[in-house]
Amino acid sequence: MTTNPQDRDKILFTPGPLSTARATKEAMLRDLGSRDAEFLNIVRGIRTKLLNIAGVAQSGGFEAILMQGSGTFGVESVISSVLPRDGQLLVLINGAYGERIAHIARVLGVQVAEDNRLENTPVTPSAAEAALRKHPEADCVAVVHCETTTGLVNPVASIGAVVKAAGRTLIVDAMSSFGVLPLDLEAAGVDFLITSANKCFEGVPGFAVILARTSSLLAAEGRARSVCLDIHAQWRGLESSGQFRFTPPTHAMLAMESALEAYEAEGGATGRRGRYEANQKTLLRGMTRLGFRTYLNPIHQSCIITTFHYPAHPNFSFKVFYNLLNDKGFVIYPGKLTHADCFRIGTVGQVFPQDVEALLGAIEQTLSEMDVGVNPS
Ligand SMILES: *Cc1c(COP(=O)(O)O)cnc(C)c1O
Repeated sequence: MTTNPQDRDKILFTPGPLSTARATKEAMLRDLGSRDAEFLNIVRGIRTKLLNIAGVAQSGGFEAILMQGSGTFGVESVISSVLPRDGQLLVLINGAYGERIAHIARVLGVQVAEDNRLENTPVTPSAAEAALRKHPEADCVAVVHCETTTGLVNPVASIGAVVKAAGRTLIVDAMSSFGVLPLDLEAAGVDFLITSANKCFEGVPGFAVILARTSSLLAAEGRARSVCLDIHAQWRGLESSGQFRFTPPTHAMLAMESALEAYEAEGGATGRRGRYEANQKTLLRGMTRLGFRTYLNPIHQSCIITTFHYPAHPNFSFKVFYNLLNDKGFVIYPGKLTHADCFRIGTVGQVFPQDVEALLGAIEQTLSEMDVGVNPS
């Protein structure tokens, strides 16, 4: 038997980067030129597929823009490209990713109004309405679909209806949800949605995806505060020559082509969601059996990532717990909450219920190594 390094890779139960399929990695064993006809076809195919997945390929009215960099580069590209010069951005916040949007805007010199709530509390349509009444100058409203800080799902469709009725531009960070959690762009009045190659699509890191309402994108012309992150110019480039303006992530595109084939073979959003839900259910059942408590009310919980409280036991140390799991080949993630000691376990990427079972076995063993009692229920 040959040993391949990736057979020894740890399994990533994190919000990203995520474990990817062998075929996705193998698709990258090529070097394509940025102007090569085959490469341009791949880019065109990926853009069309993304619009298809969003359900707007037939109806039209939306554009798919690919932007070099991680997901946050995509968020920054939208904020820096679409806000009018003297515009104001209202951010509806219930986690670190909403905070990050506000931070990006502040650094860019964009006026920001923050509407905050606890991380276990969803943004409601009535809260969005109240925030808009309080900040009537806001041109754009930004919200996160699945707040990966906790795993909470915000009801973007009904928030969007409020924003749309108020005539504002809606920006949705759907980084960790797009392609799995349903979102009707038209009904939700989404103007700009940001996602990444390396979340639910299970491509490799390297670029972000922006789905933009064509009319809103055209209105953004000339507003960019950055050359590299200008989504209007990037779109013009992709439309006119099929090319990226600057060196494209060719290998990440090859990986994405393969990852999207796997996504379709799995049954698209329904199939992938089915696997992620099976992962999360397995995790929840096992963790509950081990005595762990979840941070979120289950009605707000997504299948993407789950936040657990630290056990109350005095022997528990997250650092030790993390390291012992890491030594066993399982990577979990620290919490990012402002008011509770928690850690997170992601259930996305090339992870299957049997991997979750293996993780649960490792957690049980680790707890006993740490002398943290396991709940015998
Ligand atoms: C992962 C994630 C991001 C950031 O993506 P990076 O690729 O780490 O830059 C932004 N928002 C949400 C909701 C995410 O889950």
